[in-house]
Amino acid sequence: KKIIELKQVYKDYPQAGTLQTVLHDINLDIYSGEFVAIVGPSGNGKSTLLNLLTGIDHPSQGQVIVNGAELQKLSNEKLTSWRGANIGIVFQFFQLLPALNLLQNIVLPMDFLGRLNKGQRRERAMHLLELVGLADAAERLPSQVSGGQQQRAAIARALANDPPLIVADEPTGNLDAATADSVFDLFAHLRDQGKTLVMVTHNETLADAASRKLEIRSGRIHADSKPVNLV
Ligand code: ADP
Ligand code: ADP
Repeated sequence: KKIIELKQVYKDYPQAGTLQTVLHDINLDIYSGEFVAIVGPSGNGKSTLLNLLTGIDHPSQGQVIVNGAELQKLSNEKLTSWRGANIGIVFQFFQLLPALNLLQNIVLPMDFLGRLNKGQRRERAMHLLELVGLADAAERLPSQVSGGQQQRAAIARALANDPPLIVADEPTGNLDAATADSVFDLFAHLRDQGKTLVMVTHNETLADAASRKLEIRSGRIHADSKPVNLV
């Protein structure tokens, strides 16, 4: 099953009075269960591509269809609730709320979705904190734990609503090697559960563990490790 489909996608940004084309004619299908690493030098359009996949930004031309929804056609309000149910996002700027402890940060997306009762939400949040090795830090504020712990809590939060798709931008970016390894194991575990993972990474170990490597250069798909006609 196709979970992501990009058709003739272009993205322009105004820059110094002209339009700069950051993504050129991207055509991409990602199937459910794939683990895709997006690699390539910085400033070449990788984050822009992730923003289009999550509907945080819209293409200048073309279509982005994720889990059956054409994102440009959803109102902002619909898009927010759709995203909450369908995508777990791990982005650097998508930080934990500083006034809530780690447990409360993880319960929050479940509150928005309203699927479980209060006790079940708390129980699930504790379970996710255990999964990322943070059970002991549940009551701490983000400022009271290390950067690596915050990053793992952000991953737990991305899993809160059990989304079919997880999108991450440099998930091991500011982690030391040992913590990066634990995050790495976590992604392998998610892959084994059949989740679809799409991540931008400069970490070669993580990129090598992916089932597919997509290299973006100058806003184009420069290389795709998956043979085009395989599926
Ligand atoms: P990467 O993730 O590969 O480092 P980005 O997608 O962040 O690359 O950026 C690609 C290009 O798009 C860069 O030249 C960047 O300056 C430009 N760009 C990204 N976001 C914006 C924006 N919101 N407004 C204007 N230009 C942008
Ligand atoms: P990680 O490998 O998860 O990034 P570190 O090695 O940075 O963790 O930190 C080890 C321990 O130090 C953690 O268990 C954490 O409780 C504590 N610690 C690190 N940074 C901070 C901080 N800014 N505030 C409070 N405690 C911290």
